[in-house]
Amino acid sequence: MTFPPPSAAAQPGRRLVVIGAGVLGVCLTARLAEAAGPGVAVTLLEQARPGHAATRSSFAWLNANNKTPRAYHDLNHAGLRAWSALAGAGAQDRPDWYRPSGNLEWADTPQAAAELTARAGRLADWGYPAHLISPAAAAELEPALRLPPTVTAVAWFPEEGYLLTEPMVADLAGRAARAGATVLSGEPGRVTGVDVAGGAVRAVRTATGQVIPADVVVCCAGRWVPELAALAGSAASIPLVPWALPGAEAPGLVVLAGPVTAAAAGRGGPARMVHSPGVHFRPHGGGQVHLEAPDVHADLHTGEPALGDLATELLARARAVASGLDTAEVTGYRVCVRPMPADGHSIVGWLPAPGGLYVAVTHSGVTLGAHLAELMASELLAGADRAELAPYRPGRFPAAPSPAPS
Ligand SMILES: Cc1cc2nc3c(=O)[nH]c(=O)nc-3n(C[C@H](O)[C@H](O)[C@H](O)COP(=O)(O)OP(=O)(O)OC[C@H]3O[C@@H](n4cnc5c(N)ncnc54)[C@H](O)[C@@H]3O)c2cc1C
Repeated sequence: MTFPPPSAAAQPGRRLVVIGAGVLGVCLTARLAEAAGPGVAVTLLEQARPGHAATRSSFAWLNANNKTPRAYHDLNHAGLRAWSALAGAGAQDRPDWYRPSGNLEWADTPQAAAELTARAGRLADWGYPAHLISPAAAAELEPALRLPPTVTAVAWFPEEGYLLTEPMVADLAGRAARAGATVLSGEPGRVTGVDVAGGAVRAVRTATGQVIPADVVVCCAGRWVPELAALAGSAASIPLVPWALPGAEAPGLVVLAGPVTAAAAGRGGPARMVHSPGVHFRPHGGGQVHLEAPDVHADLHTGEPALGDLATELLARARAVASGLDTAEVTGYRVCVRPMPADGHSIVGWLPAPGGLYVAVTHSGVTLGAHLAELMASELLAGADRAELAPYRPGRFPAAPSPAPS
C-alpha cells in the first residue's frame, strides 16, 4: 500500500492532533505520520472504536457516478484512483478490503432507462468508464443476477467497486501507528475540550484528563464536527443535513444477510456492486451481503418491529434478483447517520478562528478518503492551498449571526 511521495514535510517540533478515526481520520493520520518527517508529533484521538460510526455502516461504494457538477465528479474520480494507488491495485499483496468489482445498474421503466442512458453518456464524455450493455452481457459479468424481463436498460461501470471498511480502518490505523503516530481510543481518546490562547489552538483535552499540546487540530469527527468546532471556540457555520429528529434525511437503514450459498446451478451469490431498481447490494465479509434501498427510509426513532420488517423486505427484494440468497437470513440491521453537508458537497479547510483549527466533513467520505487525505496533508504539512479544494471551503457558508445584545 503506498501514498505518493510527500511534496514537503512539516517543520520539526510541530504537533498535529486529528480528532475522529473514521475513514477520513485514519487515512489522514496515516498520510501525515508517513509524510511528516522526524520531530513532528501526530496524534489520532477516537472516542470509541476506530471506524465505529458512519464508516462502519457505509455501503462504501467507490464511485463518481452521479456526482455533479464536473469539479465534484472529478474530485470523486480522483478518489477512485487514490484508493487504487493506496491499495496497490494489481499487486499480489493487495489488501482484501479493496474490492474494485465494477458496478452493474439496470432500469425497468422507459423513464429510468432514459435517465440511465443520459447519465452513462455524460460520464463517458467526461472520460469516466460507463457502458450501456445488453442483459445477456450483464448476466455474463454477474452470473448471480436474475434479471427480470422488464429490464429497459443496463449500464456497466467497470472502475467502480467497494471497500470492506472495518478491515480498511484497522489496516490504516495500524499503519499510522507504525509510522509513529500515537493512536488513542475509548475514553483516553474522547476529546472534551480544546484550549485556545492568543487566538490559536494550544492543546486538546481528553476525558481521562490528558492535555495533548497541539499547534494544529483537525476535526475529522463526522456528524460531530460542528459541535467540536464550537467546543474549540469557532463561530463558523458548518451546516449538516439534520439527522436527529424524526423524519430526518441523513440516517439510513443498512441490512446484512447471509449466508450466501452456491445455488443448484452452481452459481454463487453476487460478486459485484449491483444497483437494481428495488435494492442495492454487494458482497460483505463473512459470506454475507450488504443491502440498501433508496426508497426505504428509517431514522433514529424508527423502532421495532418496523426495522425488522424493512430488513426482511430488503432481503426479499434481493432474493428476487440474485441467486445464492434463497436460504439467507437477515443477520443484522441498523440505522446509521450519514455526515452530510447541507449543500451535498464536502466541507474541508481552515476555520477563520481560532488559528490552527481545520475541519473535514463530507458525504461520500469512503470514495474520497484516500484522495482527501493527500490534499489535506499537503495543506497541513506544507502550507499548500490546493485548488481542488477551493469549492469546498467552510467560508462558503455565512457565519451564524451572534446574538443581539440584550
Ligand atoms: C448508510 C450509509 C451509506 C453510505 N454509503 C456510502 C457510499 O456508498 N460511498 C461513499 O463513498 N460514502 C458512503 N457513505 C458516506 C461515508 O460512509 C461517510 O462519508 C464516511 O464514512 C464519513 O467518515 P468520517 O471519517 O468523516 O466520519 P465517521 O466515520 O462518522 O467518523 C467520525 C469519528 O469521530 C469520532 N468522534 C466524534 N466526536 C469525537 C470526540 N469528541 N472525541 C474523539 N472522537 C470523536 C467518532 O467516534 C467517529 O468514529 C455512507 C454513509 C452511510 C451512513
